Amino acid sequence: MKFATRAIHVGQDPDPATGATVPPIHVTSTYTQAAPGDHKGFEYSRTQNPTRFGLQDCLAALEGGAGACSFASGLAATNTVLSSLLRPGDSLVAYGDMYGGTYRLFERIFREWGLELRYSEETDPAAIAGLVDKTTRMVWLETPTNPMLRLLDLRAVSAAVQQAAADAGIPAMPGGDRPTANRLLVAVDNTFATPALQRPLELGADLVVHSTTKYLGGHSDVIGGAVIARDEDVLETLRFAQNAAGGVSGPFDCYLTHRGIKTLAIRMRVHCENAQRVAAWCEQQSQFEQVIYPGLASHPQHALAGRQMDGPGGMVSVVLSGGFEAASRFMSRTRLFACAESLGGVESLVNHPAIMTHASIPRETRERLGVVDGLVRLSVGIEDVEDLIADLSQALG
Ligand SMILES: *Cc1c(COP(=O)(O)O)cnc(C)c1O
Repeated sequence: MKFATRAIHVGQDPDPATGATVPPIHVTSTYTQAAPGDHKGFEYSRTQNPTRFGLQDCLAALEGGAGACSFASGLAATNTVLSSLLRPGDSLVAYGDMYGGTYRLFERIFREWGLELRYSEETDPAAIAGLVDKTTRMVWLETPTNPMLRLLDLRAVSAAVQQAAADAGIPAMPGGDRPTANRLLVAVDNTFATPALQRPLELGADLVVHSTTKYLGGHSDVIGGAVIARDEDVLETLRFAQNAAGGVSGPFDCYLTHRGIKTLAIRMRVHCENAQRVAAWCEQQSQFEQVIYPGLASHPQHALAGRQMDGPGGMVSVVLSGGFEAASRFMSRTRLFACAESLGGVESLVNHPAIMTHASIPRETRERLGVVDGLVRLSVGIEDVEDLIADLSQALG
């Protein structure tokens, strides 16, 4: 089946009891057994839940992995990835321009836990690979990045870091039964692109992490996360941790997320079309010092976007001349673009990264990455694009 068909049909078999075309939401915490241990494969909903299983199967089919684990939030997914696959003393290499909450989790929870963190400030595969040594068990990549919309060449970076790991001769660790004992895993946060536009597992990644809160859910009405593993051994470790640590997503949340995914292919098409139109319009307005969108020829990685992605996505970042004052004035005047955190819903949102989503990154680091006070991030929704442009225009005026 092709992508759009998988999004609609995988994990959505009709209910065997009634024939209901849309399977019911299984809101049970437990399952009645005929005799102790005599059950239908379902014992307790933290461990097994049909609504969650349906969502996980669909996510795995969309990313092309061995399987998926869904969680109560994107950060819960990331937390489980790090805590189950890494050990104190390991190092993690990351490209430094990432979601602020991920950075906070790395720095405030995992550094204290004993993880060594190394950040590259360059997208160059050799620069990222240069940070890999024999302690490195994971490379964390986000592309396009939030909010600067920089791209990493996933195929080139994966190859370079795996070569660096081989050169470092990553030794088997004590208790070498874990999947990262003698290899390095490449994890990609694919929240901004979604599998509709980019499939990292096909490009050399081992893991894909999502905040399903964003485009996958797509309607700004549910928080969730997921991890999809390419290989069975990694998946088994994650599944164990999902049950053992218990950060699972509940059945209602799984239902909403899965319902959203059914329209992912068509939504992403319109997000891309609208964002392209909005970005092109913004480029013509003198109030913007800079317009960042991978679909614009002015984007330094425009060619890579064309190669790696099936569309440039729905996020556009702009820098207003006039700094924070101008950004704040602009953002309080938009009507259709709601001033709010988050992204990826059908409705357009406008965000001020320095104050709203990236406040946990120290100012100096933030500004070096380009997150200046005049930077405004647009999540371009799927409303009529003429209305969106008119809204931006009146807010500028
Ligand atoms: C929102 C977001 C997250 C965190 O997900 P939550 O569902 O909010 O926990 C991680 N990565 C990216 C790129 C995000 O946009």
